[in-house]
Amino acid sequence: MSQTSGAARPGVVYLVGAGPGDPGLMTVRATQLIATADAILYDRLIPPTALDGARDDALLEFAGKGPRGDSKLQPEIEQRMVELAREGKSVVRLKGGDPLVFGRGAEEAATLAAAGIEFELVPGVTAGVAAAAYAGVPVTHREHAAAVAFVTGQENPEKSETSIDWAALAAFPGTLVFYMGVGNLPRIAERLTAHGRRADEPVAVIQQGTTASQRTVVAPLAEIAARVSDAGIKPPALTVIGDVVVERQRIEWFERRPLLGRSVVVTRARAQAGTLGARLRELGAEVIEAPAIRTIPRDDDAVRKMAERVSFGGAYDLVCFTSANGVDCFFEALKRAGSDARGLAGTQIAAVGKATATALGEHGLNADFVPERATAEGLLELLASQDLAEKQVLCAVASNARPVLTDGLAELGAAVERVAIYDTIAEPLPASTTEAIAGADFVTFASGSSVRSLIEALGKAELLHGRQLISIGPITSEALREAGLEPSAEAERYDVDGLIDAVVAAAG
Ligand code: SAH
Repeated sequence: MSQTSGAARPGVVYLVGAGPGDPGLMTVRATQLIATADAILYDRLIPPTALDGARDDALLEFAGKGPRGDSKLQPEIEQRMVELAREGKSVVRLKGGDPLVFGRGAEEAATLAAAGIEFELVPGVTAGVAAAAYAGVPVTHREHAAAVAFVTGQENPEKSETSIDWAALAAFPGTLVFYMGVGNLPRIAERLTAHGRRADEPVAVIQQGTTASQRTVVAPLAEIAARVSDAGIKPPALTVIGDVVVERQRIEWFERRPLLGRSVVVTRARAQAGTLGARLRELGAEVIEAPAIRTIPRDDDAVRKMAERVSFGGAYDLVCFTSANGVDCFFEALKRAGSDARGLAGTQIAAVGKATATALGEHGLNADFVPERATAEGLLELLASQDLAEKQVLCAVASNARPVLTDGLAELGAAVERVAIYDTIAEPLPASTTEAIAGADFVTFASGSSVRSLIEALGKAELLHGRQLISIGPITSEALREAGLEPSAEAERYDVDGLIDAVVAAAG
């Protein structure tokens, strides 16, 4: 067990690195301290989701510099840390990358030490190493570079008392990594070549490394400034100079992801958005979660009566489930009735698709019927081969489910009981989410109700004009058309995998 594990303690200031941008590159320690701190003073260059895990009652204050109106001066920031710690708060001072690599963390620590305030230094993954890695550039390499230098590019090369020794840097036997240098790139390249650095040495400039907006420009030292300016590269960007850059040809990986730089809206209910969102992120997408629908289990007379009948046993010959949610709500109802899966002993079970079957599996049940095509029609087709005459069939469905399945089963002669086991309701979206949706590349729809709820939450369907609308299947596409929207693509397989494939294909 590490000595530094545990929650943030009162009166202590933690100088924490938040990594280069990819939320997955935050350390366990950083996440733990963010989750428990009383106050968080954060910089501009931290991952967008870095503060998501903070306590609801935590004090969150922007304490950064840079192109923002509320820019703070260094002494002010240090004073604020001292003040909060003296109030007995646990304070996280959150900075991009590593707090001690061009991060002024040492100055802040020195102020705390002088004020007699306890502090901890929590290193982070620094951009110089991480952005390079995500560009397929190793900062050291057995064949190319036995050393690496981290250099600030912000020094004005014209300044007479510049602290950069250009002659020494040019002669440095290894990789040069410049932070903050994009604006100065013409001068940096000129100074280095003037002092004897090879004009044809390969250089990579990496913008917003490790994020969905990562872009890399590679050129020889003599040409890099012009190429970067042509490409419109903007800070934050990192410049890596050295033969290690050639490795990118072989091991470039991150920028090859099919959805890199594309924003994709995920509209599934909050509980289900996780997997779809995580998978899209792995493909490089920037995911906007718009859980426009929420499912609320029902606990009314009909549900209670059904649960009692099931617990009694033998009440139904066949039970049909049309969503994973339905399965979960069904078992919650059984539990409330003091029963469990044994109530379904001897009962056949049908699931509308793979996800629903998986949910049943989590309750220890194997579905007897799972259609290839995950729609009510597909399930009905499959069940049509069964002799259902006079069979007691329960359909545990969403209150707004289409009548296709229940009507069809009745036509097959079954005695059908339809029980609405949950409601789906529209969730209001924060303004920032609405704005992000209006500018997104893709909007995914995993059900007809997610179409209706998203439109209700947005207020008008027009906000989706110009977005590529990706539908999970024909029923969802129909719901889009009913709302006056034409789907841009429809999944070939009507499940999450099919939906993801359709987004990737549309991204071309
Ligand atoms: N403490 C930070 C660096 C702060 S200085 C760290 O350890 O990473 C800010 C500079 O870091 C930026 O101007 C840029 O050069 C670099 N930088 C930070 N994040 C970056 C990113 N995601 N991609 C490329 N460069 C980045």
